[in-house]
Amino acid sequence: MKRHIKYIIVHNTATFDPKISQHYGFFHYVVERTGEIKRIYPESAVIKHLPDVDNEAIHIAYTGGRNKAGSLGDTRTPMQEEALFNKLVALSVKYPACRICGHDELDATSNCPGFSVKDWLRNYEPDLSISA
Ligand SMILES: [Zn+2]
Repeated sequence: MKRHIKYIIVHNTATFDPKISQHYGFFHYVVERTGEIKRIYPESAVIKHLPDVDNEAIHIAYTGGRNKAGSLGDTRTPMQEEALFNKLVALSVKYPACRICGHDELDATSNCPGFSVKDWLRNYEPDLSISA
């Protein structure tokens, strides 16, 4: 059944940096530290994170979100940041009516993904030197 997507929700995998977890968790897409994007589940699948919106959501996570000390935060590499940005652009072309937001915008008790998606998208300037 075709889903009506209204939300694209950004997460982290809450794994330690720089260890790359082999268990990606329950996301549609995971962005590796190298910028490689892995499709974990098809977009037609409902993945359970936030019961109120899961039926209408695509979940995308970057690997990391925890530093060596175990603290939560933004651990994205520049390649990861660019790949995440490009994937969000592609998804917003595919689902023009969707809202892109961080997990924490829909669940005030969450520290995920470790940065403000809204501020990041507003201010992000792709670093052309790394995509060349
Ligand atoms: Zn999350």
